[in-house]
Amino acid sequence: MPADETIFSRILRGEIPCDEVYGDERCLAFRDIQPQAPVHVLVIPRRPIVNLNEAEDADAPLLGHLLLVAARVARQEGLTAWRTVINNGAEAGQSVFHLHVHVIGGRSLAWPPG
Ligand code: AMP
Repeated sequence: MPADETIFSRILRGEIPCDEVYGDERCLAFRDIQPQAPVHVLVIPRRPIVNLNEAEDADAPLLGHLLLVAARVARQEGLTAWRTVINNGAEAGQSVFHLHVHVIGGRSLAWPPG
């Protein structure tokens, strides 16, 4: 399925609602619909990229921006310790094939993840 057919593209087009916490010309951040922690936000690029495997050198500024926005969102949410997760591929837990950075915090987080 091409990245522009995912539920996240529908959110970006405004076809389905989201609980937005940050947005700019390059990305959108919104609360995960099935939060795994008190704070669980997804940061996604407006330009559809399937996952990091499909990213190219030219995407470096955008990928860096997503991480800086993740930190911005964490600060905005009052978090001092938090985790970012990017799942790549179904066997790694990726269920939506439009790149997204999970920002998870607000509780103790175990390591290693399952
Ligand atoms: P992943 O499993 O890494 O691909 O993460 C996809 C995430 O998207 C999951 O945590 C889902 O709960 C979340 N998700 C799916 N649909 C929506 C939606 N409509 N709004 C917000 N989050 C969603």
